[in-house]
Amino acid sequence: MSKMLLVRLFIILMILLILPAGCGKGVVAPEAPGGMNGQIENKPEAAEKSPVTALPERKGLPVLKSTVIYVVDGDTIHVRLENGRKEKVRFIGVDTPESTRTIEPYGKEAAIYTRKELSDKTIYLEIDVAQRDKYGRLLAYVWLMPPRDSSKTEVRKVMFNAALLLVGMAQVMTVPPNVKYADMFIEFQKEAREAEKGLWGIIKVPAPASVFNKANTETKYIGNSNSKKFHRPNCQWAQKIAPRNRVEFGKREEAIKTGYQPCKTCKP
Ligand SMILES: [Zn+2]
Repeated sequence: MSKMLLVRLFIILMILLILPAGCGKGVVAPEAPGGMNGQIENKPEAAEKSPVTALPERKGLPVLKSTVIYVVDGDTIHVRLENGRKEKVRFIGVDTPESTRTIEPYGKEAAIYTRKELSDKTIYLEIDVAQRDKYGRLLAYVWLMPPRDSSKTEVRKVMFNAALLLVGMAQVMTVPPNVKYADMFIEFQKEAREAEKGLWGIIKVPAPASVFNKANTETKYIGNSNSKKFHRPNCQWAQKIAPRNRVEFGKREEAIKTGYQPCKTCKP
């Protein structure tokens, strides 16, 4: 995370903390039914809407209020929209490991996570440019509360697609033209990978290539010409190799034949 970003986040945080305290008793609105309106009463647009109906129809970030009726797997659910229509929904921008037809590492965990977090919940669907995929599924960003805006702070806090990436239950899968949050998603994935969250933690043990080659199809193994060790591309040690010492191998045998030893952390 860049310094500028940290400074900006800090300023936003300070404003949120100071505003409610700074205004007189008369200005603080009574707690809204949603429970989340207290801190945004000072914004001009907050005045013109009633807390019950207007939140989902905020200008700039329209969402469809719906209820989760079934969780298929980590990134697919069934919902009932407010008009009563049922829809199958595929989350935009993320891909959880398989848990239905075939079982991939972390597939079950991802399905359990989504089931636990979303079953029977009221959610708010945001649609991007393409509404449906070729299977007719609705493509959506799933908000757990009506989003105030599309800022990174809000996405990180309230969007379930982002949560899946942040806890390491999904990888980024960008399918144009639905790219509204693609850059943030890549950042969140990087964060989870560096902290070895969820599926990123099992990179330490040998795993079927299918889970990881989606993110790393171009390179198979990374060697260090100085230490004569070689790694999986996602290994933390592989990422720390100085460019002048970095060697790439297409096959494991190739590295061994050249005299390189497998890393003890990522066990390539
Ligand atoms: Zn390694």
